[in-house]
Amino acid sequence: IRTIGILGGGQLGRMLSAAASRLGLRCHIYEPGAAPAGDVAWRLTTAPYEDEAALRAFADSVDVITYEFENVPTSALDLLESLRPIRPGRRALAVSQDRLTEKTFLTEIGLTVAPFADVPDQGDLDAAIAQIGRPSILKTRRMGYDGKGQVRIGDGPADWTGAPSVLEGFVDFTAEISVIIARGADGQVAAFDPGLNVHEGGILRTTSVPCGQPGRVTTDAVLIAARIANALDYVGVMGVELFVTPQGLIVNEIAPRVHNSGHWTQAGCAVDQFEQHIRAVAGLPLGDGKRHADVVMENLIGDDIARVPALLAQPRTQLHLYGKGEARPGRKMGHVNVIAG
Ligand code: ATP
Ligand code: MG
Ligand code: MG
Repeated sequence: IRTIGILGGGQLGRMLSAAASRLGLRCHIYEPGAAPAGDVAWRLTTAPYEDEAALRAFADSVDVITYEFENVPTSALDLLESLRPIRPGRRALAVSQDRLTEKTFLTEIGLTVAPFADVPDQGDLDAAIAQIGRPSILKTRRMGYDGKGQVRIGDGPADWTGAPSVLEGFVDFTAEISVIIARGADGQVAAFDPGLNVHEGGILRTTSVPCGQPGRVTTDAVLIAARIANALDYVGVMGVELFVTPQGLIVNEIAPRVHNSGHWTQAGCAVDQFEQHIRAVAGLPLGDGKRHADVVMENLIGDDIARVPALLAQPRTQLHLYGKGEARPGRKMGHVNVIAG
């Protein structure tokens, strides 16, 4: 494999391209909108996912296709899949594109998720609340990220999200952790240490490793992630978000791609999540997931970008800027990995 096609040209695609380039591989990125990754990738196609000719030309130029964004329309995936292998495969995409399908799948393989109910339309909300109770969270089935498309249901009247949704029981967690796991085409699995995630306003703020949880919890978390990867016959890196509760781990959601909560691996591991994903989709042996440092990853969101001069002066700090233009509120502009010691 020489050339990797990446659907999505955001910061994840950019960091994947940089990792591929280090391995002597090149990336062709396909992105319908703005593409910060364009400066690092070998080639960039800017075209909508409905442009069949552009999709064909893209597929023709690559050996394998992966993605940094899971909400690629099915029609585009159908065409691309007929031309080149897509890794991770369609099952992983189908499951993670839709929260209802995702929760149903996770339950079927024996994992615990928050109590949930299908809410196809506004008129179904009252019955769902009667079943799940309050407090709860209404989430759109598709397209949500960074807490978008979610409505907290408290004591008062309940709002509608505007789209088919699931209602989820509110989980009184003691911590949020995530596992970044890689699975190769041969079924080999390598996991990174679980990280402790802190969110602010639905957006990931920091991930810390070690995560401060007892060994039985971290082992359980890794085993859950491996079970998901094996059940999906997964190839690539996957992020699994979990809630820690006194009753055990609850799976929040999975992301079939490199994950923001895995950015610490850039400073904490010999082979980071981006290289690991490239290795997996290119059919190369996986690196190990061993961690050699304690790291706190902090996202630089919106105006945080003003802290860059100070961060550049701070010791043991690895700065990553995504090359995005305007610093809008809530927009991820970069991150720092601060190494302890
Ligand atoms: P991401 O950017 O991680 O894809 P998302 O928009 O898909 O986010 P979720 O991960 O479902 O959203 O929720 C965002 C955050 O909201 C969670 O990390 C958690 O802090 C909180 N949250 C979500 N669901 C629940 C729940 N059932 N109980 C308690 N807190 C929750
Ligand atoms: Mg999500
Ligand atoms: Mg999430």
